[in-house]
Amino acid sequence: VNGSTVYRNARVDGTLVDLTCSGGRIDSVTPSGPAPVGAPAGVDLEGRVVLPPFANGHAHLDKTFWTLPWRPHVPGGSIRDRIDRERTIRADGLLPDGSRALALARGMLEAGVGVIRSHVDVDTLVRLGGLEAVDSVRRELGGLVDLQIVAFPQSGILKDPGVADLMAEALSAGADVVGGLDPLSIDDDVDGHLDVVFDLAERFSAPVDIHLHDGGPEGMAEIAAIVDRTAALGLRGRVTVSHAYTLGTAPTDDVRRLAERLAEWDVAIMTDGPVGTTPPVRLLHDAGVTVMSGSDGIRDAWTPYGVPGMSPIAKQLAYQSKFYEDADLELVARIVTAHGARVLGVEGHGLAPGSRADFVVLDAGAVAEVVAEGILPSVVVRAGGIVQLGRPAGWIPVGKH
Ligand SMILES: [Zn+2]
Repeated sequence: VNGSTVYRNARVDGTLVDLTCSGGRIDSVTPSGPAPVGAPAGVDLEGRVVLPPFANGHAHLDKTFWTLPWRPHVPGGSIRDRIDRERTIRADGLLPDGSRALALARGMLEAGVGVIRSHVDVDTLVRLGGLEAVDSVRRELGGLVDLQIVAFPQSGILKDPGVADLMAEALSAGADVVGGLDPLSIDDDVDGHLDVVFDLAERFSAPVDIHLHDGGPEGMAEIAAIVDRTAALGLRGRVTVSHAYTLGTAPTDDVRRLAERLAEWDVAIMTDGPVGTTPPVRLLHDAGVTVMSGSDGIRDAWTPYGVPGMSPIAKQLAYQSKFYEDADLELVARIVTAHGARVLGVEGHGLAPGSRADFVVLDAGAVAEVVAEGILPSVVVRAGGIVQLGRPAGWIPVGKH
């Protein structure tokens, strides 16, 4: 068994198994038992929970203040006010910054995140500066994280003439996904905004991920319009609506009807569990909608909150969903791992034979415990080896140095 590593007594879906890894893949998953005579000792995980890497399906690496001295949050009214404030900060030369983006992404990796979708602002002020900053993070972290970049029109598309062309430029220069933002409240033109977004999706064969904060019936109508576009262009499984706060406040019957259409066209919903507006995760999931999660902004002009790991987000999402039973907590664990990987189209994510030998070890005896407590991984494994950032490979748990 040359070149293989065995992780013994891993708790996967409640069962103790041995994970044998070689060549960066999981070769076999077998029930744990006494090691055969002459077998390599391997690493004894002592019954700790093992999950595939966490997926952060919605981050903003380009705009974080992470690693800077604490900056008191400046309160603001409308989303438009916040956009203008952030543009001022950018004009001061503080944003975007590749080294802070890298520090935050490394923090995510250390906290067990292996899959990241980062929106990057594209507007006539920052142009492709955010893309360049986050693209440098992607080159730096190479095989350690799957990093997708969304060309995100933070200042609107129609209200900031030139953005449509810049988004096309971004998609030519390395962005993977077409972003969008509140077609009604930001651009006052649902069809005009979606025309640009879905035209770019077609031209570049790119997935779509639209921020939708708009509430009430208007927000519901915007989601329906997004599904219509998805159906018209045959983009099943290629479109995500992020936040979708309106699903958290609309009448249940309306949500149920819309959920059927979301499921039919496999339009995913991203939520981080906001207070009062969290979409009904269980209802959506049971209707066949893929729900994923993400950190959203971490310590930036929009929020003083946030840490790099997904475990605290999982806890928050479960708490806001009023989840108490294991089955519900386990659903959230899948939302922050497998569901995000599925939406992002990550190959080999999982713990089955043939999957990439990427996983996290958590100091817990049950998956539900990980979510309820927001437990961060004690060990991060990539390609069969334990990751130590900035140190030579070895077997010392991440976080203990
Ligand atoms: Zn966002």
